[in-house]
Amino acid sequence: MKPNLTFKHCPQCGHPKTPEDKIPFECEVCEYTYYFNPTIAAAGLILNTKGQMLFIERAKEPAKGKLAVVGGFIDNGEIAEDALEREIREEVGLTVSNIQYLACFPNQYNYKNITYPVLDFFYTATCEDTRIKPDQTEVAGYHWLDPWLVSESDLAFPSMQKALARWKTTNK
Ligand SMILES: [Zn+2]
Repeated sequence: MKPNLTFKHCPQCGHPKTPEDKIPFECEVCEYTYYFNPTIAAAGLILNTKGQMLFIERAKEPAKGKLAVVGGFIDNGEIAEDALEREIREEVGLTVSNIQYLACFPNQYNYKNITYPVLDFFYTATCEDTRIKPDQTEVAGYHWLDPWLVSESDLAFPSMQKALARWKTTNK
């Protein structure tokens, strides 16, 4: 279900919401307005000194068990590059450098029966010390793989598939 369809009442005044699929939500009584903008995420295509790229196996839904690149949602007030470094530290315990913007693609994130719109910002980064300390609540496994041998279809989300394809195009 789309997030805007979960509103049954105005969050500010409680007036019943008419069941229409309209964004933004605008309350006809108190004029409260809510835009349902996409959530922003940052993800990293991390390369070690051998040219291998880090892929994790997702430990939880959505896309449990599928391969993914490391990343996560950006907090309020945080810039994308800081969020990326934080997520990499939290999920796999790595410190990266040479963070460079690659591309951004929209995505959809299904969580507890709600499909949230997301905008994923992808970066490349390098890593010298590759000793991984995975957060096992998020990461079921990890692999350093030759990115040219990884098929886009093995990745969890369409946005990640497009990001890997973009990386291959720009690194031919
Ligand atoms: Zn209202």
